[in-house]
Amino acid sequence: MIDPFGREVSYLRVSVTDRCDFRCVYCMSENMTFLPKADVLSLEELDRLCSAFVRKGVKKLRITGGEPLVRRNILSLFRNLSRHLISGDLKELTLTTNASQLMKVASELVDCGIKRINVSMDSLDADKFRELTRWGDLGQVREGIRAARDAGLAIKINVVALRNFNDDEIEPLIRWCGDEGHDMTLIETMPLGDIGGDRAGQYLALSEVRERLEQTFTFTDLDYKSGGPARYVEVKETGRKLGFITPLTHNFCEGCNRVRLTCTGTLYMCLGQDDAADLRAPLRASEADEVVDAAIDAAIARKPKGHDFVIDRDNGGPALARHMNVTGG
Ligand code: SAM
Ligand code: SF4
Repeated sequence: MIDPFGREVSYLRVSVTDRCDFRCVYCMSENMTFLPKADVLSLEELDRLCSAFVRKGVKKLRITGGEPLVRRNILSLFRNLSRHLISGDLKELTLTTNASQLMKVASELVDCGIKRINVSMDSLDADKFRELTRWGDLGQVREGIRAARDAGLAIKINVVALRNFNDDEIEPLIRWCGDEGHDMTLIETMPLGDIGGDRAGQYLALSEVRERLEQTFTFTDLDYKSGGPARYVEVKETGRKLGFITPLTHNFCEGCNRVRLTCTGTLYMCLGQDDAADLRAPLRASEADEVVDAAIDAAIARKPKGHDFVIDRDNGGPALARHMNVTGG
């Protein structure tokens, strides 16, 4: 799949549910209205859509949410999708998770051919973690991470940088990741969805964080291209990779290789634009693959050149009404 700007689309992120057992302050408000279950694609339909994308050239599939592991019977989707790994059509099947359920499923994920996962954990302080996630339990998350590591999964820890919240924890988190053998990625907050509070106060530019970290750590830039908004360095003191995802301070769109599918079958061609294509209707319209394949082609032909996020200091409201749990991180 080649878009109008010559970019090859080879990476699909799929949000399999908008629901979650946490309520992270930057992601959701405390009282969320979730999608009616009837609107959500069945696991069989999600498999059919993912498989259509694989047929069209997607090589990397990331399952996300909401929290993907709270969706009932989600392991059956991983198990079914693993056939594309076995056939060699898919190079990587992975997921992003808050780790609350990892303890129970880590070894099964390995059985499904998953090798690396992303885990979101923004603090190592149990009280702060509770405050950030509202409902999360740090002990359970750390147990989940340990279980995943023991099962043989490589883990990258995602940390959202929040001013006056966890900015003093970034250094300890880098050291902890070094000790535990995890890579880490720092993420700037993105203005997606009403969170029932002010975003401008949370926003912390990673350029500022990086400058401060470089007083303590030695970074070597890595020529590691993920096709996404992350820039990676190696931290000499820990020997691990550290990524910086800076959607607001850098333009990363020219190398964009990804599209995002929601649990209702809506395809977003850009995380930062509202234009989307409905794939549920064509999927349900016909058992034959041609209809949905044509709808995918038409959507890719509309992939925009780039996005234009702004967090205005005078206006902490969202730039897009959609929450991150809809399109996935
Ligand atoms: N529940 C899973 C988790 O937390 O890893 C997967 C979904 S979550 C939406 C994916 C990633 O998006 C997480 O790393 C989370 O920290 C990040 N995220 C959520 N809302 C965000 C926002 N407004 N700005 C930046 N990152 C955000
Ligand atoms: Fe749930 Fe992930 Fe959003 Fe936190 S960031 S509320 S864990 S979907």
